[in-house]
Amino acid sequence: MPYTEDRTVWFEGQGLWQHVPESDWQDWTWQLKNRLTTAEQLERHMTLTADEKAGCAFASKRLALAITPYFFNLIDRNDPNCPLRKQVIPRAGEMVISEGEQLDSLGEDAHSPVPGLVHRYPDRVLFLVTDRCAAYCRYCTRSRLVSNAQDYNFHPEHEQALRYIEAHPEIRDVLLSGGDPLLLSDKKLEHLLARLRAIKHVEFIRIGSRIPVFLPQRITPALCEIFKKYGPVWMSIHVNHPRECAAELRDACERLAFAGVPLGNQSVLLAGINDDADVMKALVHRLLRMRVRPYYLYQMDLITGGAHFKADVRKGLAIIEALRGHTTGYAVPQYVIDAPGGGGKVPINPDYVERITDDEIIFRNYEGHRFAYPLKTHPLATAEGGPLPAAPVERVTVF
Ligand SMILES: *Cc1c(COP(=O)(O)O)cnc(C)c1O
Repeated sequence: MPYTEDRTVWFEGQGLWQHVPESDWQDWTWQLKNRLTTAEQLERHMTLTADEKAGCAFASKRLALAITPYFFNLIDRNDPNCPLRKQVIPRAGEMVISEGEQLDSLGEDAHSPVPGLVHRYPDRVLFLVTDRCAAYCRYCTRSRLVSNAQDYNFHPEHEQALRYIEAHPEIRDVLLSGGDPLLLSDKKLEHLLARLRAIKHVEFIRIGSRIPVFLPQRITPALCEIFKKYGPVWMSIHVNHPRECAAELRDACERLAFAGVPLGNQSVLLAGINDDADVMKALVHRLLRMRVRPYYLYQMDLITGGAHFKADVRKGLAIIEALRGHTTGYAVPQYVIDAPGGGGKVPINPDYVERITDDEIIFRNYEGHRFAYPLKTHPLATAEGGPLPAAPVERVTVF
């Protein structure tokens, strides 16, 4: 059955938490304090499958279980295959280690000059500012360190990392991530942004955060003022399924955009969740309506206990093919595989080029029609209708 939705409707409401005053519901600290963190708490509101019960029992050894009431409310509790449910409720697959999987599949630790900083690309760094998130994605790339369930003892050293960035003028781009940077207090975040802004060679600052999705209440006017003050600050949010695009997320994106924060989205291709062209098309259309530009679509990283999320690369390619040309170009993300071991993100693209010779390139369009574009030039006539010049015209371009 193809995925369909009512495009005029934005889901909203407190659902199970009708009895809670709206002021509490809108308070991000209330949402954090009232997170669901145990199987028992979940089972007060829903029936867990045997698969999920086993996953929950194991979670404390791998990656903590935590779901904000806001996000839990978006789950279809009667559907064991709900795409939001599968992202945040552990399943037994997390206990299985498959061939090729590693705790640190991207080799981040080997590229870390100081704790919490990953310097893999020449001109930019990944700055892991915390190991905590508002809720935990079961397929998390940094399951090894996030939530500290594995005794990894991650202690981000902000001062050390800032000094490293100061000492390396080749770093022009700093990406704050974690964990979720927006879990830091306004004061800490402002301090970090102020310190980074004071570094002359840091031109580009961006934040990777799923807080707008899990905890849109955190996007307060005060936080937006900080982004205005230290902007431009770009942000990549993380939405995987159109059902996550609730009115609260839409409004949080609007507050961010009005504060001058350009928004992108990173999705992870997840088996049985969004590895489907209709789902992804609905998602990217919702994103554009929220002022969010789809940025990357990631092939699942080979982290331990992640195989049950792994989708077929051919499905990822089919999704890109179903988007390119068929819908708004802004809506098409770049599909990438983050190369195992630390090779960085590599674009994976459908093949539109059939053949290139010295004479021409043969390619097809989104409808499968073939075209030729000549590479050699054969002068036939001049624009004025006069004789062709004997020798090629020398062109001098003055800039
Ligand atoms: C993803 C990533 C970046 C940013 O990559 P862009 O392609 O510039 O978005 C930087 N450093 C590390 C280690 C990364 O994994």
